[in-house]
Amino acid sequence: MIIGVPKEIKNQENRVALTPAGCSMLQEQGHAVIVQHGAGEGSGFSDEEYAAAGAELAAQPADVWGRAEMIIKVKEPLPEEYNYFRSQQILFTYLHLAAAPELAQALADRQVTAIAYETIQMPNGSLPLLTPMSEVAGRMSVQEGAKYLEAFQGGRGVLLGGVPGVPPAEVIIIGGGIVGTNAAKMALGLGADVVVLEKNGDRIRYLDDVFQGRLRTLMSNPHNIANAVRKADLLIGAVLVPGARAPRLVTEEMVKTMKKGAVIVDVAVDQGGSIATIDRTTTHENPIYEKHGVIHYAVGNMPGAVPRTSTLALTNVTIDYVMQLAAKGFNESVKANASLALGVNSYKGALTHPQVADAVGMPY
Ligand code: NAD
Repeated sequence: MIIGVPKEIKNQENRVALTPAGCSMLQEQGHAVIVQHGAGEGSGFSDEEYAAAGAELAAQPADVWGRAEMIIKVKEPLPEEYNYFRSQQILFTYLHLAAAPELAQALADRQVTAIAYETIQMPNGSLPLLTPMSEVAGRMSVQEGAKYLEAFQGGRGVLLGGVPGVPPAEVIIIGGGIVGTNAAKMALGLGADVVVLEKNGDRIRYLDDVFQGRLRTLMSNPHNIANAVRKADLLIGAVLVPGARAPRLVTEEMVKTMKKGAVIVDVAVDQGGSIATIDRTTTHENPIYEKHGVIHYAVGNMPGAVPRTSTLALTNVTIDYVMQLAAKGFNESVKANASLALGVNSYKGALTHPQVADAVGMPY
């Protein structure tokens, strides 16, 4: 199969869908890979590395889209890319079509076979192509929080781990899923006092078991949240209710009780935010704002700050699906792999994922 890797064109997107290592793997199986010049640059992979891995370098996006049987990308195509779509061409990328009806229509009109990373689902309900980005964001949340706690960043001038004779900072994490667990790991590693509030009893037991008493767990309810938030130096929002807007668990009144110069990092901002005073999404260029004396960090694409790590983490989990699709073709691959089949969002002119079709008001 001919596989194409265009350069991402979305603002601030520096990830790439295939590393030179992945390129070698495809090459060894007899596939051809076309990579657009500079596609790997933002993640620290040069054209020379791709060429050494056997890729053909193409100067223009049209050279990649025009010849590839399967396009692999990171972010959804932007309108200027819609004209490249071809009937039966496989597009494998994050699509988030529920929020992009125009793109859904364009994919259907051009009969693109579009497979969305985010709807590939394992039998236990987990979303394997979203997990690595949650791991990155969870770990980053503590790094960013620690930075903004510094006095010259406007924070209260507290070192997360304290020092001998001086108490560590109090890190409060709401939501103990992938983001929350990774945040807890980082905060504990830096020596902070960590409390995780979670509402799923099994998850609370799991956290208690794996961290062996190194963190405290609390049932998530308004009373416990209010008490914990008041004491927080760093508050991390990490909740998710699948398919729904993030629940607003921390009220404005609770934020007003926080210490001056404390920091909130709401990772759940991409689902609307879990803290009442998170009223906007911020960017890497301008990541924070202050409200009630508390620093608010609300970047919606946190992994974008560490594109090399994020690219490696993402491609670690996408490459098996890419190899499968390349080896067996679309029909055989989705027959053999039910998780991959759930990733199919558009096929032969129709939307094929019920929730996505529902969200954009198109027939299923
Ligand atoms: P996850 O499903 O692994 O974990 C979410 C956890 O929240 C679950 O354990 C769930 O039981 C818990 N939860 C639900 N309601 C709760 C409540 N009322 N109180 C306490 N806990 C509650 O999800 P995840 O992968 O950890 O993702 C968390 C959030 O981070 C999501 O909104 C996701 O979209 C977001 N995210 C953002 C970025 C970013 O760059 N900003 C990157 C990755 C993920």
